[in-house]
Amino acid sequence: MDKFQIEEIKKRLDILDIVGDYVQLKKVGKGYRALCPFHSEKTPSFYVMPDRQFFHCFGCGKGGDVISFVMEIEGLSFPDAIELLANRVGIKIDSNETRRNEWNLSEVMEKALKIYRDSLESAGGEVARKYLIQRRLLEKWWSRFEIGWAPPSWDYLWRLLNKAGIPSKAAIECGLVIEGQRGLYDRFRGRIIFPIRDVIGRLIGFGGRSIAGEGAKYINTPESPLFHKGRCLYLLNVAKDAMREKGRAILVEGYMDAIRLHISGFGESVASLGTALTEEQANLISRFADVCYVCYDADTAGQEAAIRGMYLLQASGLQVKVVVLPHGVDPDEFLSKEGERAFKELLSQSLHLPLYHLKIREKALKDLSLRKKAVEELLESFSGISLPDLAPFMSQIASALEVPRYALENMLLNFGANKTRAEDEKKGKSAKSSVYINESKKQDEKSLAVDAKEAALFALLWNDPEKRHHFREEEIYPLISDERIKTLVAALINGESTEELEKRWLNSGDLFPLQTLALGNAFCEQFEEGISPWDVIVGELRLRSIKFRYDELYSKMLKGEANYDEIKEMRKIASLLKGGKEDR
Ligand SMILES: [Zn+2]
Repeated sequence: MDKFQIEEIKKRLDILDIVGDYVQLKKVGKGYRALCPFHSEKTPSFYVMPDRQFFHCFGCGKGGDVISFVMEIEGLSFPDAIELLANRVGIKIDSNETRRNEWNLSEVMEKALKIYRDSLESAGGEVARKYLIQRRLLEKWWSRFEIGWAPPSWDYLWRLLNKAGIPSKAAIECGLVIEGQRGLYDRFRGRIIFPIRDVIGRLIGFGGRSIAGEGAKYINTPESPLFHKGRCLYLLNVAKDAMREKGRAILVEGYMDAIRLHISGFGESVASLGTALTEEQANLISRFADVCYVCYDADTAGQEAAIRGMYLLQASGLQVKVVVLPHGVDPDEFLSKEGERAFKELLSQSLHLPLYHLKIREKALKDLSLRKKAVEELLESFSGISLPDLAPFMSQIASALEVPRYALENMLLNFGANKTRAEDEKKGKSAKSSVYINESKKQDEKSLAVDAKEAALFALLWNDPEKRHHFREEEIYPLISDERIKTLVAALINGESTEELEKRWLNSGDLFPLQTLALGNAFCEQFEEGISPWDVIVGELRLRSIKFRYDELYSKMLKGEANYDEIKEMRKIASLLKGGKEDR
């Protein structure tokens, strides 16, 4: 691999395409903005500049070119990142000598897939072909979904891998072959094979469906250096473009469900490989979509694990809608029998998560012996949803729980506050500490040399046009001691649009304003729900400015330079401060 090749790869890549696979980018001026994938934030401070093929986060300071982005987000070494990007643009790179003798695991997986694919088309694959056609998965779809067949032999795959020169260690590491007492044998036997690829299309695992009714109906590749079940979604690599385009995802349980949906024109569908969804899977979906339709079998959708997964989706920022299928029918069967139009109808009748949750607890709420537990479960779940997101359903929730609306809001807030407090205590910190900046934020502050509260004041004005119009310069300026922030606030209060300002700063390469904004937003995000950052920050800055004035007058008085009015003002401040919560 030489540097000309690396330049060639970079030339053929657009950083927007690569980064766009991981975060949702919004255009702003010449650049794009997103929530940072490297640190947790609620207001975006991560920017990509396509003209310079460069990314930078003003919140955590990470930045660089497309290669450093891939290294960072995939946890890859430099050569591995290059290899991945080279594959993406179709450049074959010369691997160095040490690599040439060694099979890398991806190559082993691709070789295994080739064997499974060939085996489906071979004479021995007839039973599998019959099964697929009987399941209405016609021949023309097999290559599109790379469906294969693992014959019911103990060493069919291993013999062929061995013949190709693949060492047993690599085959075992990939989870393809198992080391038993009598030697090596194949993991997948007598199973239809579904290859599982990650978001950028690397083959990482297989799912196998038994057709003879032997063993578990479905088995997957076990956890391996390549495969982490909780971090991938079946068909995401082909669904992501449609997800982005339509702004929505359809989440199903099974391989066949996902394939059927794709065939029927719902290319935005992915399968979760089980109902116990993980936070990582939820985040994967939210990278590409805003709404997620959950379409599980009726029997499993109401189960605790499934519900928990739906709230993870909600917590990742998705709007969650639950599709209610008739009992005993999975999405594959429904589409095969009823067709696309009926499925669209189902989608349009889907229920928002809170309403779905109410519906499945309807019976329990009416049963005196179950009611208390159901109410607690519902309140706890709802308290994880922000009040604005919950607002459209408040009256329905209130009437189902038989509480007045205003009381419901308080119950939810209390539930939420108790939960955070309990979690904080578990983590060994007092609930109060969450309003203070944490250590890493303090570091940012030091390197920026900006007062976090002043930055927060700027961020609050930035995010709220109402406040910008409502407050006058002479009210705000005395609260700010940093001249640079004063300039920024002046621009805002004088009516410059945030879009224009942001564009100008990005184009000029002036980092200070956006860094300050990121710091301010991060500071505001530390507040617990129900506490107004504006009231707290303005209150504290006001107090600070009053104390500052007092010190000024006090030293004047000591020097004998204070006049009558100034001494009067000083006395007034002193009594004000005494009456206040804090002592000077
Ligand atoms: Zn960041």
